[in-house]
This record gives sequence, C-alpha cells and structure tokens, in this order.
Amino acid sequence: MTPMEKIRLLQQSGSFQFTKSLGQNFLTDENILRKMAVTAKLTKADAVIEIGPGAGIVTEMLLQEAGSVLAVEIDKSLIPFLQETLGHYPHFTLWHQDVLKANLAEWITAQRAAGFQSIKVVGNLPYYVTTPIIMKLLEDGLDIDLMLFMIQKEVAQRLAAKPGTKDYGALTVGARFYCEAEKVFDVSPQVFIPRPKVASAVVRLTRHETPPADIPDPALFFQLVRAAFGQRRKTLLNALGTMPDAVDKADVARRLNDAGIDANRRGETLSIEEFARLASVWPDSSD
Ligand code: SAM
Repeated sequence: MTPMEKIRLLQQSGSFQFTKSLGQNFLTDENILRKMAVTAKLTKADAVIEIGPGAGIVTEMLLQEAGSVLAVEIDKSLIPFLQETLGHYPHFTLWHQDVLKANLAEWITAQRAAGFQSIKVVGNLPYYVTTPIIMKLLEDGLDIDLMLFMIQKEVAQRLAAKPGTKDYGALTVGARFYCEAEKVFDVSPQVFIPRPKVASAVVRLTRHETPPADIPDPALFFQLVRAAFGQRRKTLLNALGTMPDAVDKADVARRLNDAGIDANRRGETLSIEEFARLASVWPDSSD
C-alpha cells in the first residue's frame, strides 16, 4: 500500500480526523522513506522506537528493515487502525501513550537482553513538542545508539549551531555532548498531508563512542546548561545565581574560577567542553 492509500484508508475508517494540536502531518513520499531507512542504517539487529506512528507509514518501513519495533502514539483514534494494519508483524509493539511519559528504559533493557545490537529512535516528530522530546531522550540517559528525526529546519539549525550564535542553546549543548549531530537532507512541506507551514529536515544523532568529558552527574550538567541559557543575556555570574545550591555571587564566582571560566562571559559563548568542565567542578567547589 502506498502512503496515500494508507491515509485514505485511515480516513475512510471514519474514526480519525487530523488534529493540528498534535502536530499531525503525515508523510506521503516513498523516496523519503527509503532515504530514512538508509540514513538510519537499519538492520535486523536493530530494535527501533518510533515516536508518533500516525497512519503507520514510517512504521511499516521500520518493520520491514528492523528486528523489533515499538511505536508510541498519543492519539487514541489511531490505535485500532495501527493494530489492524500492522498487528500481523510479530515484532511489532504498540503503546498508546504520551512519549514524554513512556518508560522507554524498560523496553530498551528488554531488547538488549533479547540480543539486539543497536537501539535506535526514529520519528517524524510532532512540531509542537520536538525540543522537549529530544531533551527527554538525552536527559533520561537512555541507552540509544542512533536517533533519526524529521524536524523543523529551524530546530535542525539549533542542533548544528556554533557557540555565540543565536541558535546555540540548551538543545545544542545537550545533544552534542552525547551525540554527533548531522543534518542529512531537507524535506519540503509538499510531501506531507496536511502541509505544514515550515520546511523540515532530517537529522541524525549518533552517540559518541566516548563523551567529550567525564561528567559525574548528568542531571547537574543539564541543570547548569538550562540555568546558563535561561537568562541568556546575563553574565554567568548572574545567570548561575539561580542554581539551587548557589549561596551567593562570591560562591558562583569561585566555582566559575575553579572551572577556568571568566564569570563575566555569557552562557551562550561557552563551548560544550567548558560546560562539561563546569559541571565536573561545580559540586566540589561549594565550600
Ligand atoms: N509518523 C507519521 C508519519 O510520518 O506520517 C506521523 C508523523 S506526525 C508529524 C506526528 C505523530 O506524533 C502524530 O501521529 C501524533 O498523533 C503523534 N504525537 C503527537 N504528540 C505525541 C506525543 N506526545 N507522544 C506520542 N505521539 C505523539
């Protein structure tokens, strides 16, 4: 079945209507599906999580290429259609859930135990929640080897941004600490139904073999990054005053000094390595 035939069949089923607020723009182009499969380097040794299967267009490609597929969909009205059209694949699991609340760690552990060599996440992500989804996957420290996302071009630019530019932010630092980020190809609004207002791009995030620095407490790293970018026009001396354990300005200044970072710089100028250094000295310089 072509993507268009699938979407028509779904609409004829009578129970589904596109919900804009859920970011429902379904892919209709088979060439893009093929390019996604190649870019994600899918093999039968992969267990793949798909975020937001929609009508199951990307899902079916994943089921053909990978050894195990979990699809997580928030829209209840899509569940019966997905079960009916894809339920015959023995390696298909479907969760009706908000991916932001799903216990992916448990599923990943079970797939590793079953012998799958790589864990991958693929998704034509709902636009309204792209950044929170990527941040959650990173912050939860999930054992994921590769992520392939179709996202707004503007978010793709943020993932690739350099320090000191307006696109450089918490998402850039979080993603690139753990992964190499590449924009692989652009996608025109014309290949979706309904057409989104913005252009999209496919990005691949590949986990680094070894992270650029050893950070003992990843949660603290993300907390510092958020604090630094939360008030991005402020100097680090002021912005990091919002850290829960910051006593006063002298305390923040001392910790920055220990990390070899000028307290008058802004967070947006710090490299990923500098953020990592700050996160590793932060707890030790508290007295
Ligand atoms: N994968 C399909 C495709 O490419 O045609 C659909 C992609 S559409 C851009 C995004 C999908 O994510 C929709 O099916 C939507 O219902 C689902 N979705 C939106 N928010 C979600 C969430 N928080 N958790 C899981 N799925 C979500």
